Amino acid sequence: MKPSKIYYEPDVLTYQLGRELQEKYKDLPWVPIESHNNIQELRTKENKEFKELKTLLILGTRKTHKYSPNFKVSDYLVPFTSSGCTAMCLYCYLVCNYNKCSYLRVFVNREEMMNKLIRFSEKSEKENVFEIGSNSDLLLENTVTGNLPWILEEFLKAKKGKLTFPTKFSMVEPMLNINHQGRIIFRMSVNPPFIINNVEIGTASLANRIEALNKVAEADYPVGILIAPVIFTEGWKALYTELLDILAEKLSPRVKKTMFIEIIFMTYSFIHRSINNEAFPEALELYDKELMKGRGMGKYCYRPELREEGERFLLEEIDKRFGKDKILYFS
Ligand code: SF4
Repeated sequence: MKPSKIYYEPDVLTYQLGRELQEKYKDLPWVPIESHNNIQELRTKENKEFKELKTLLILGTRKTHKYSPNFKVSDYLVPFTSSGCTAMCLYCYLVCNYNKCSYLRVFVNREEMMNKLIRFSEKSEKENVFEIGSNSDLLLENTVTGNLPWILEEFLKAKKGKLTFPTKFSMVEPMLNINHQGRIIFRMSVNPPFIINNVEIGTASLANRIEALNKVAEADYPVGILIAPVIFTEGWKALYTELLDILAEKLSPRVKKTMFIEIIFMTYSFIHRSINNEAFPEALELYDKELMKGRGMGKYCYRPELREEGERFLLEEIDKRFGKDKILYFS
């Protein structure tokens, strides 16, 4: 999707990617800013302007490069070439960090980030897996920057280490011909069609995600699916049964044989509620006071009894179709 306007730190034009984007989007308005973290005229917009904010593209350089230890598929979460996204999932956790400014920001100092990551990876004693998609969606970002093949190919020059990222999009073609050496773990996020259509606004359909996942597995990448986030909306058992039936029917034998499954229950927040109620007044209400409890800092999660019921249900239904050993964790 073409952005409507670009806000940029002038320094980005000293980077190759910054100059390429300047050429690519030369017909758009470009507004200089001091820092991508504090764009006063955008911070003061109303919540109801969230959709328009999501059409903007912000260009800057990433100054902090702190890796956080992680204990799921990856060993470290690595902030990388972008944050935010043009889609508008009503639960997007980036809204907790960036509020209505969770638009797509691209950081053009990719060489610096890559060099640091490779040094870190090669220096480590063990073979680490680095999660580079926890702050954005790399397939979506790639439609703007073309970064994805560059990232994979550059990282694969490191003597050691693996990358992983999840996505809700389907534009996988740029990664299909890369000699990935089994060192890139691709994870597709899935949800029932009703939830994708009503909650994951602006993302790919389930059918397109499945087709993309099949292609990536066919190119011999290690793959996983994330059933995430599980949302206990009305009729959830029927919705998730439908999802698992579709997956059982449409995933290729290769995906079914090799995949792992992560399951994450939705968390929600006061900030989501206020933005969604004003920007998407017609949308499905995700907050349910009967089913949720506060967990501090204005966040909500599902009550333990409901979560346990959800875990039992999904475990049983996944076991019937794929075998419960496929499940890596519930979170
Ligand atoms: Fe947020 Fe991911 Fe949805 Fe984009 S695709 S809005 S990053 S949850």
